[in-house]
Amino acid sequence: MIAMSLVLALGTNSSIVRDAEPTQNPPSSQRAATNYELELFLAVLEGLYEDGVSNDAVDAITVIDAEHGYPANFVWACPVCMPAYRAFLTYRARPEFTWIKGSPDFGPGLTAEQMAGLTTGEFSARQDALMELVGGWVERRMARLRLTPEENAAWRREMEERRKKGMEQLETYKSQGLGGSYARMSDCPLCDGANHPWLPPTRRR
Ligand SMILES: [Zn+2]
Repeated sequence: MIAMSLVLALGTNSSIVRDAEPTQNPPSSQRAATNYELELFLAVLEGLYEDGVSNDAVDAITVIDAEHGYPANFVWACPVCMPAYRAFLTYRARPEFTWIKGSPDFGPGLTAEQMAGLTTGEFSARQDALMELVGGWVERRMARLRLTPEENAAWRREMEERRKKGMEQLETYKSQGLGGSYARMSDCPLCDGANHPWLPPTRRR
């Protein structure tokens, strides 16, 4: 009897929700798809865990630029770089569980080639390696979110907009003569990475 009234109550409730405002009250999975800040953060955090990225790699990526004092590879205050940067730092601060036998990481770690790409060679080549890494993570997360065509279009517009803001920020730093990595950056690797899933292959760098 109790179970039956529960079923009835649930049935009534859900029909009220459906009848009331179907588009303004989507399931939580759909709401999450357009929480861009959170999704960018999760895309990077998930990628780091899944690939089992080493602390050495994270330290190389998040290194502070001696000249301008901001993280060398991230455009400070850029709306793509900041959630990504937070994810890198969150992952780096993960606790060490001494009771885990063997490797505590879920993934195998970056390949020697990826590691070399991120840490050696020309500055622009290292930036490209970072762009590719983050681009792959964003692509993976987008696939998991199973965006509707409308959500996909909204993401594309949003990432373009965020990239534009990031580039404006970079230009400001250049005009202020901040120097360091900002003087050498022609594009933002994180912003390009976040736009990766929507770029035609010819426009990928
Ligand atoms: Zn950026």
